[in-house]
Amino acid sequence: MPVIEVVLGDLVEERVDAIVTAANESLLGGGGVDRAVHAAAGPELAGAGSALAPLDPGDAVATPAFRLGPRIRHVIHTVGPVWEGGGYDEAELLASCYRRCLEVADALGARSLAIPAISTGVYGYPAADAARIAVSTVRSVRTRVEVVRLVAFDEGSRDLLRSELAAQGVS
Ligand code: ADP
Repeated sequence: MPVIEVVLGDLVEERVDAIVTAANESLLGGGGVDRAVHAAAGPELAGAGSALAPLDPGDAVATPAFRLGPRIRHVIHTVGPVWEGGGYDEAELLASCYRRCLEVADALGARSLAIPAISTGVYGYPAADAARIAVSTVRSVRTRVEVVRLVAFDEGSRDLLRSELAAQGVS
């Protein structure tokens, strides 16, 4: 199990081997965190991403981090589920995003990984439920990734993630 850290801040300012972006199936760049990642990485990111598209919800693929390097080496693109009330496998798909991102990071040899709160923005996933899934999935994965930093963009999300770490006995 990797060490899990919770931080408040901008994902693209992280200093880690790989960051995860909450993409859409086209991998061409979307809104929210994905916009920030594409803006910081440069237009090459959309070119590399679209060559691997379409990507199914719950899956993940990696590209170079382009202009985010050398501070960040890889961008892992994952497509979270759109929240449609909870009856459409959203929880399983969200857990799959975290699992697949860890698998891809491990295969790349990344030892540190920063992940935003996938699906909790435009895709509407309830933040408390998403925080529970994020923590429980990351802690259940066997991986050579040593540090997973869960990056919250607002204090409410940060507090939910911290509560989950405590509730699940991680901190
Ligand atoms: P999704 O479409 O998967 O819901 P969003 O990008 O809309 O993705 O939102 C996912 C989460 O990322 C939200 O909690 C949002 O507040 C957060 N977020 C937005 N910009 C950033 C950023 N620059 N760094 C970290 N998190 C961010």
